[in-house]
Amino acid sequence: MNRYTLIQNLKDYESRQWDVIVIGGGATGLGVALDAITRGYKTILLEQSDFAKATSSRSTKLVHGGVRYLAQGDILLVTEALHERGLMLKNAPHLTANQEFVIPVYTYWDVFLYTVGLKFYDLLAGRLSMGKSYFINRDKALDRLPLLKPEGLKGGIVYHDGQFDDSRMAVSIAVACVKNGGTVLNYFRVNTLLKDDNGKISGVQAMDTESGKEYKIPGKLVINATGVFADEIHRMDDPLSRQTIRPSQGVHIVLDSSFLQSSSAIMIPKTDDGRVLFAIPWYGKVVVGTTDTPIDTVTLEPKALDEEIDFILRTAGKYLVRPPKRKDVNCIFAGLRPLAANPDKPEATREVSRRHKITLSSSGLLSIIGGKWTSYRRMAEETIDKAINAGFIEKRKCVTMDFSFYSSNKSLRSERLMIYGNHAAEIEEMTAEQPALGELINERLPYTQAEIIWICRNEMPRTLEDMMARRTRSLFLDARASGEAALEVASIMANELGFSKTWQESEVLKYNNLITNYI
Ligand SMILES: Cc1cc2nc3c(=O)[nH]c(=O)nc-3n(C[C@H](O)[C@H](O)[C@H](O)COP(=O)(O)OP(=O)(O)OC[C@H]3O[C@@H](n4cnc5c(N)ncnc54)[C@H](O)[C@@H]3O)c2cc1C
Repeated sequence: MNRYTLIQNLKDYESRQWDVIVIGGGATGLGVALDAITRGYKTILLEQSDFAKATSSRSTKLVHGGVRYLAQGDILLVTEALHERGLMLKNAPHLTANQEFVIPVYTYWDVFLYTVGLKFYDLLAGRLSMGKSYFINRDKALDRLPLLKPEGLKGGIVYHDGQFDDSRMAVSIAVACVKNGGTVLNYFRVNTLLKDDNGKISGVQAMDTESGKEYKIPGKLVINATGVFADEIHRMDDPLSRQTIRPSQGVHIVLDSSFLQSSSAIMIPKTDDGRVLFAIPWYGKVVVGTTDTPIDTVTLEPKALDEEIDFILRTAGKYLVRPPKRKDVNCIFAGLRPLAANPDKPEATREVSRRHKITLSSSGLLSIIGGKWTSYRRMAEETIDKAINAGFIEKRKCVTMDFSFYSSNKSLRSERLMIYGNHAAEIEEMTAEQPALGELINERLPYTQAEIIWICRNEMPRTLEDMMARRTRSLFLDARASGEAALEVASIMANELGFSKTWQESEVLKYNNLITNYI
């Protein structure tokens, strides 16, 4: 993954036509690009910021069918997602895990309701089930979740779902795209859709936002996979196009593990506002969320509202022996769901189906919006199939169902390094040769200097934020600690990537400003 080589690919191809141009480097766009690349189409993906900068690094980190969608009766969505959950756990074992959940129950009616509901969830998962659900009594529930408030508790329902690292999964897909002959570029913004004399889309004009250089990129097919930004691309195609996206903000907070003291997660099926709330162990911390707030403006850096943070703290406090306070929060992050707009009921975001939508405009813009991280592979398959059926590209079979992101059989001294995939052992070799590189970047973060160097050499980070937020999860695990490590990490990056002292200083300044959004 070398940005200069990849830009060279782009220059070499200037006079020829790409088969597929994908706009957007989140879960959806990366999935589509990998599907197209592994079918053998000459493919380029352009991301205006970093891979997974937007919604795809701000999820609840669940690979799940969605127990909530089952309650809403969306059985097709749940069945498809459960199947994809199974595939993702099989194909990306280095970034996914089987997570046990406990639903605390306070009435006998809830015992019945959730036991039956989760049996049905198990049934829908079929042979890709991750473990059977079952009822446990009050004592056993408190054994598993010692910090759950015991008052009125009747017991718990145990069930299993998947958990993952969303932005590292995105990086893993980007790396796989390049390994398989594709071109994926971060910091490349599409500004214009190119059209031929018949008004059909014939490519894109994009700007390398690092150099300011513009490129005309011709292609047989342009796919809009820009999530909440999809309407901006629709308007590039047709300035009068109607709004299709209703963004809804979801906020999470990250707490120290001492608030849960358990390897089991808690799922509260119905909070005061009718949503689901999760408290999930993640990299030694606890992720708690989420909210569902309709909003009007889309941005790459959404900001949590005070009432959203208060709601999460208040609700968590109702269930936990030690109610978390604002000062206990390590990180607050907000993400935007690209929900389909309902002009009749714009505020009703909770009821909107999370199923994806694929549309084709009269000028040939193929758009894929909505959906879930869990279903990214299937969404990609359907998108490329639609392009084939519409005659943009010749027919070739999808191969991603068995596409494995991890095939290493090298044993690691530190299991944690598995997140770096097949080449993780290289990091251990670096620290074996130079033990000083094994030093942590901050005592409250799990990452070493060797990891920072390895990432620079293999995963195309361009800014300090890329490193802190998405290659490592430092920002999300402990925003303040990541600020303390910023100077050292920026210096390692500048050294590895050949950036100047001025770059280093300006990155630290930018990063410290960014952190204020997360604490
Ligand atoms: C709070 C929350 C929790 C969630 N939890 C889960 C979960 O636990 N499990 C699950 O399966 N799903 C979850 N989801 C859903 C999942 O995160 C999203 O469905 C998925 O990340 C959307 O990916 P995307 O690629 O469509 O959008 P994005 O990740 O937003 O990517 C779109 C990309 O397009 C780029 N772009 C926009 N305009 C341009 C342009 N002009 N040129 C180039 N690039 C451009 C943007 O920079 C952006 O990176 C959650 C969503 C939210 C909001």
